[in-house]
Amino acid sequence: MKSLWSDAEAAQFAGPLGPRVYTSRLLGRDKSLVLHGGGNTSVKIAEKNLFGEDEQVLYVKGSGWDLETIEPAGFTPVRLDYVRRLASLPALSDPQMVNELATHTLRAGAPAPSVETLLHAILPHPYVDHTHADAVLSVSNSPDGEKRIRDIYGDKAVVIPYIMAGFDLAACCAREFPKQRTKNTVGMVLLSHGVFTFGAGARESYELMIELVSLAEKYLAAKKAWSIGLPPAGAVSFDREAAAKLRHDASKAAGFPLLCRCNDGERFLGFARHPDVARISQGGPATPDHVIRTKPLPMIGRDVPGFSSAYKNYFERNAKKAKEPKTILDTAPRMALDRDFGLAAFGRTAKDVGIVEDLYEHTIDVILRAEALGGWKALEERHTFDIEYWDLEQAKLKKAGSPPAFAGEVALVTGAASGIGKACAEAFLRRGAAVVGLDRNPAVETLWKRPDYLGIACDLAIQKELSVAIDKAVKHFGGVDMAVLNAGIFPATQAIKDITAEAWQSSLQINLSANLLVMQACHGLLKLAPRGGRVVVIGSKNVPAPGPGAAAYSASKAALNQLARVAALEWAKDGIRINSLHPNAVYDTALWTDEVLASRAKAYNLTVEQYKKNNLLKTEVGSKDVAELAAEMCGPLFAKTTAAQVPVDGGNERVV
Ligand SMILES: [Zn+2]
Repeated sequence: MKSLWSDAEAAQFAGPLGPRVYTSRLLGRDKSLVLHGGGNTSVKIAEKNLFGEDEQVLYVKGSGWDLETIEPAGFTPVRLDYVRRLASLPALSDPQMVNELATHTLRAGAPAPSVETLLHAILPHPYVDHTHADAVLSVSNSPDGEKRIRDIYGDKAVVIPYIMAGFDLAACCAREFPKQRTKNTVGMVLLSHGVFTFGAGARESYELMIELVSLAEKYLAAKKAWSIGLPPAGAVSFDREAAAKLRHDASKAAGFPLLCRCNDGERFLGFARHPDVARISQGGPATPDHVIRTKPLPMIGRDVPGFSSAYKNYFERNAKKAKEPKTILDTAPRMALDRDFGLAAFGRTAKDVGIVEDLYEHTIDVILRAEALGGWKALEERHTFDIEYWDLEQAKLKKAGSPPAFAGEVALVTGAASGIGKACAEAFLRRGAAVVGLDRNPAVETLWKRPDYLGIACDLAIQKELSVAIDKAVKHFGGVDMAVLNAGIFPATQAIKDITAEAWQSSLQINLSANLLVMQACHGLLKLAPRGGRVVVIGSKNVPAPGPGAAAYSASKAALNQLARVAALEWAKDGIRINSLHPNAVYDTALWTDEVLASRAKAYNLTVEQYKKNNLLKTEVGSKDVAELAAEMCGPLFAKTTAAQVPVDGGNERVV
């Protein structure tokens, strides 16, 4: 491991917290040191209060901030002397500790200081860095881990046995640190948890972290336990309905829809197919705080009911011994190791899924290295349980508000690159769904850079391309719960006598046949949607009221309408609802440039404003109006409705 320090970069971080922010980010950049809020840093600064008195302030990482992207506002100032004294109390409950930290914070609105704040306070040095470095965890969680750690570090580091983060750990460190410390001490290892380093300056503390972690890495390398390859995993074929079934079962166990991502990358697949996977994966997490995200163990294979009952047993076994009554969490897995899927990661949001995947990727390395040292030895499950069912975590659950309407669900939108399709994608994202956007236009792939959106360029009329795209979508999010059939074309105005075979065919192919292909590809997935499948067809006012010169368009949309009605009949038994919207005169799409609008308005002898509102309600209908209704049609308001056809046109005399 190398120091990433650069004088030029460091110079860009000004102010009293500048160096603290900079080296915190350096730690955050290395995923083998900290992952997803898994480490923290602090600095002690002397400040004058409003009375001109000197005050020692501890700035410590606040919860909700990641080291990689932390800013000065991410550090919470607390009264150092007071907080340090807390560690000398004979006892302090976690809720009391949280209360004391909150009431001794010096900036209103600052984030809650880390639960490891007391540890930072008791260490005398100005700068303190703390990580959960993979290499140190591998050594610590192997046979004779403590002895190995002491061999590696000698008196460079104070060694503390495993104690759950919080008051007891801080109190133990406050006693042990002065006892074990020598003039050579530059760090502190918390067994099965992580490492602390400290120093007078930001660079010193950071580079000591690099040095201590490098020593563990070198030790592993010397024992041939550093780069651990896996046997080649071999070929896989992805069965999307099997993946959707797995997600369906997990969602059922959770009691709410979960997203699921299957990652059959070499490392995950190799580990899932490891001859010893049933043993080495069932020890426990690499470091206990992963448990909040991942649950203690991955499921092997796809037996969700088996996993749920094992989880219930684990809860009952451990809850009995707890000091206060505990409420069981949902019993669904957050990870599955499967011979075909590699790692299947589950979560309520795409971000959560990504976190589970990242954590397990590092866990695999930690486990394999410890195995190479003689055997992976995770913490006893009671410690994992203590973290998973910690008062503070249980309190968070009770406070958590209700999630957005479509949390954990997947919406597929065709023709998503622009216009109504893009507005639909936005409407579903706003309601918490993960969205797959399909379009012939490659712009669909870069519409948003966010974990809950996946854009795939493909030609829906080509079955093979469509199938590849749907596979990709299911691998990424676990299924398709809602589909908006929006992609379509509006050919140039032509009288019937002038319609070319090509124009007729392409209308039918894109507006009708491609939708049949999408429906066929999605039917099995919609059937497995945790809350039942929903389809919204973007039809047209031309279905009830066709226009002259638009025969190909009107005929194709009318045929699509009939297809949707038959689907309502056939798919009701599968719990799938399908409803249609008939928009008219939606002008905020790529089709309608300012010039086209002006010329159409002129043709009717209207101003552009009048032309846009040329309906009974004299209102303008936008893409967003259509999209919002499409999303609502997938929600509880329409739970009892299928085969409905709803106009979105401001009122049209010919339709009325
Ligand atoms: Zn920690």
